[in-house]
Amino acid sequence: MGLVGGRRTVTVDSDVLVIGGGMAGCGATYEARYWGRDLKVVCVEKANIERSGAVAQGLYAINCYMGMQWDENKPEDHVRYARNDLMGLVREDLGYDIARHVDSSVHKFEEWGLPFMRDPETGRYQREGKWQIMIHGESYKPIVAEAARKAATKVYNRIMITHLLMDKKKKNRVAGAVGFNVRTGDFYVFRAKAVIVAAGGASQIYKPRSSGEGMGRTWYAPWSSASAYALPIQVGAKMTQMENRIVLTRFKDGYGPVGAYFLHLKTYTENVYGKEYESNWYENTKEIVGDYVDRHPVPTCLRNHAILEEVKAGRGPIRMVTKEAFQDPHKETVGWENFLGMTIGQAVVWAAQNIDPKEINPELTTSEPYVMGSHATCAGAWASGPEDYAPDEYQWGYNRMMTVDGLFGAGDTIGGTAHKFSSGSFAEGRIAAKAAVKYINDLKNDQPEVSEAEYQNLKQVVFKPLENYKLGRNEIVAGTVSPSYLLPIQGLIRLEKIMDEYVGGISSHYTTNTWLLDRGLELLGTLREDLEKIGAEDLHQLQRSWELKHRLLASESVTHHTKFRKETRWPGYYYRADHPKLDDKDWHCFTLSQYDQNTGEWKMEKAPVYHIVD
Ligand SMILES: Cc1cc2nc3c(=O)[nH]c(=O)nc-3n(C[C@H](O)[C@H](O)[C@H](O)COP(=O)(O)OP(=O)(O)OC[C@H]3O[C@@H](n4cnc5c(N)ncnc54)[C@H](O)[C@@H]3O)c2cc1C
Repeated sequence: MGLVGGRRTVTVDSDVLVIGGGMAGCGATYEARYWGRDLKVVCVEKANIERSGAVAQGLYAINCYMGMQWDENKPEDHVRYARNDLMGLVREDLGYDIARHVDSSVHKFEEWGLPFMRDPETGRYQREGKWQIMIHGESYKPIVAEAARKAATKVYNRIMITHLLMDKKKKNRVAGAVGFNVRTGDFYVFRAKAVIVAAGGASQIYKPRSSGEGMGRTWYAPWSSASAYALPIQVGAKMTQMENRIVLTRFKDGYGPVGAYFLHLKTYTENVYGKEYESNWYENTKEIVGDYVDRHPVPTCLRNHAILEEVKAGRGPIRMVTKEAFQDPHKETVGWENFLGMTIGQAVVWAAQNIDPKEINPELTTSEPYVMGSHATCAGAWASGPEDYAPDEYQWGYNRMMTVDGLFGAGDTIGGTAHKFSSGSFAEGRIAAKAAVKYINDLKNDQPEVSEAEYQNLKQVVFKPLENYKLGRNEIVAGTVSPSYLLPIQGLIRLEKIMDEYVGGISSHYTTNTWLLDRGLELLGTLREDLEKIGAEDLHQLQRSWELKHRLLASESVTHHTKFRKETRWPGYYYRADHPKLDDKDWHCFTLSQYDQNTGEWKMEKAPVYHIVD
């Protein structure tokens, strides 16, 4: 009996299947139970929902809270803010929908025991900025996970989903998913009436600044491995804005967050000569993006742009002026605690590098690009909008349903909706689950069915990397280089190098052009062929193999989108050197892609941007 034949297949029946138990997945699981009292609600997670996803380590601030109970902001204000930050291109219907619902999710977090900081004078939540409120958030994720655990029929931890299953009777309808248990190696078949993908964003598709001994140290979670995009792409769901990768300005080497420093500690940045530098680049930026440079607040990408240009001009590094603020003991405590509850690695890096921010102004740098849908960026799946608010063209049935029937998404998965962050992702999970339950109820007797032939075939595909290794390892006399297979780490490094050099990563100052993108696509194609020969030594490496395959598919999508959009809309995130300016006449639109897994072709099109909020 081979490696596949001896494996147990476990079949699980569910009504709502939630893939990924991070912020959006926990929100979806919680809400699915509320609307679907008698439904089987199953959440499947490749780690353990107790500490999984981007919020695993905790957070120091909830970045999306309107404060409507105190008339602090209206949902429309948040739409304007996100639209401005994304240089005009957001799905205003989806953004509005999150903004009008997010406060109630935040209130739930407090009810469930998350400690919030309060303004001693007003008694309201302590604001860090216009949208952020401060929390003692080390236990944010376990608190949210508890609500999901109690709501779910069952949570399956340690199962990585590799593929979605399609209905055998109806084309373009989802029927479940398959994956494997990363500890036992059992093969899992989940049958479902509706599937909600909430599998986070994508780190490590671009070569990271921390390589070699620092590899794995990235800004976004290293386990965010692009499943949120690859799973829907594989089955032909349309994606949007995949070119809109994000680059973060962060403390050097530890990727420590800067938000609380700017907003709460009121620190500021300067060049190596101790001078303000943003104004040096005002005219240059105006040349590229026109009036967008005069918007307030200055869009995130444009702030990166000024840093990049100043460093290229030889006046780097850019440093955060902490020496003044840190003289105040309260601010010093806040500065350190900000890392301890969220990015403890930055505190360790400073200790290791003899950086005391009271004595030295620490360096900042720009990160490698990440693909995600919940931060100051909006890559992801193209989804139907809320029926009371979305224009007709953005509506084809159920809120947050993708262009595949029964397939929903939330959080980093869904495109066009920047600035939802942890709370907005949770709220969007709730929105998606409510719609998914309605979809299930409307199905009545027309239930999807999985094909046994399909999942049996996928079982062979999923475990093939173990076979490849077993067969090929005898050809090795020593070391890790084999004539018959490549290891996941080798494939990952190759992917990151291609994306870095051809699709606008750090080594090319985020710059690319048509020739580079075409060549990048060729090289990604060769890598895809070679990944048929990926070898996995054990189950851990099998997971790495599938994460890599998901990253590759998302990377191909990013490259096609970047090639399609012939303008430089977000300088500071990336530059099209052959189309160096923003072009509102031809490109004030969304980019959409659709992949055909039978032919390997990508179809690109434009979709209109509707400005609903004035
Ligand atoms: C460094 C950092 C700082 C941040 N700071 C803030 C902040 O201060 N305030 C704020 O509000 N937000 C912040 N965010 C943003 C916030 O964390 C995200 O917006 C939010 O977590 C996105 O939710 P999600 O559910 O889409 O993804 P996640 O929460 O990452 O959840 C995705 C889940 O899917 C699982 N998964 C992935 N692939 C598979 C698969 N194939 N099969 C099964 N399971 C899978 C993952 O293990 C994970 O549990 C920060 C994020 C990071 C990384």
